[in-house]
Amino acid sequence: RRSGVPARHVTARIAPLGSRLVLALVEDRTRERRVEAVRRDFVANVSHELKTPVGAIRVLADAVAEAAEDPVAVKRFAGRMLIESDRLTQLVQQIIELSRLQGDEPLEAPVAVDVDEVISAAVDTVEVDAAGKHISVVTGGTKGLFVFGNEDQVAAAVTNLVSNAVGYSDPGSSVSVTAKADGGAVEISVVDQGIGIPQDELDRIFERFYRVDPARHRSTGGTGLGLSIVKHVAATHGGEVRVWSVEGQGSTFTLTLPQHLSPENARLVPAHGS
Ligand code: ADP
Repeated sequence: RRSGVPARHVTARIAPLGSRLVLALVEDRTRERRVEAVRRDFVANVSHELKTPVGAIRVLADAVAEAAEDPVAVKRFAGRMLIESDRLTQLVQQIIELSRLQGDEPLEAPVAVDVDEVISAAVDTVEVDAAGKHISVVTGGTKGLFVFGNEDQVAAAVTNLVSNAVGYSDPGSSVSVTAKADGGAVEISVVDQGIGIPQDELDRIFERFYRVDPARHRSTGGTGLGLSIVKHVAATHGGEVRVWSVEGQGSTFTLTLPQHLSPENARLVPAHGS
């Protein structure tokens, strides 16, 4: 899909020249070109995605102007304008978040991030949507666990996973958000009993703007950026995100991040030096 010469191909052609320098330079240029192609692709996609809500708001504004005499219609159009402008806001926020993360640079100053706080905040964010669909969101095992990272990024990742779990679940089902420590890492699991994801789409859902058959769910829809943000947050933290899903039965996403010893545990660690 990406333009630019594949690195393997270049290596094969240049290697016989026997110059490591030339090879390194060519590989550098190849990488640069690939990054540039990804950037161009992203800008094109962003422009396209922004046009949809902006266009809708424009049409609705016209409709409001024309329906000035009909308060019921004005109210209906104004309501839809609100939905579209919320969508625009979400899109812009996620694009900004993603553009900050795309370099996958390791974090500069990671700190202890309280998993319980992050999960509680994420659950609070989806409370209204979950209540509207009678979905119970249960949490467990989150107390006393800390990850080593950036609080805003971890919060954005967990919120995206929890919001998807609620958004792609049927009314009356339940979502669980749990955490456990495992060999120096903390694994945060978000399990739903929702619509699930077809096996052949599982690789693609982490791509920017990718949505599984947008027609099958959420009429106003998401942005297709949430999981891409989760993937980049995992990368900047040296962690990983995994998914299991059965169509029609539900999905499980796990986000694994490096563990930070809690302040209480940290006291048990012998001090270095002196
Ligand atoms: P969106 O804003 O569309 O939710 P995401 O990047 O978060 O974008 O997710 C990409 C796609 O993956 C979604 O459009 C949806 O088709 C699918 N998906 C993500 N999470 C779930 C889930 N918990 N259950 C079912 N499908 C999901």
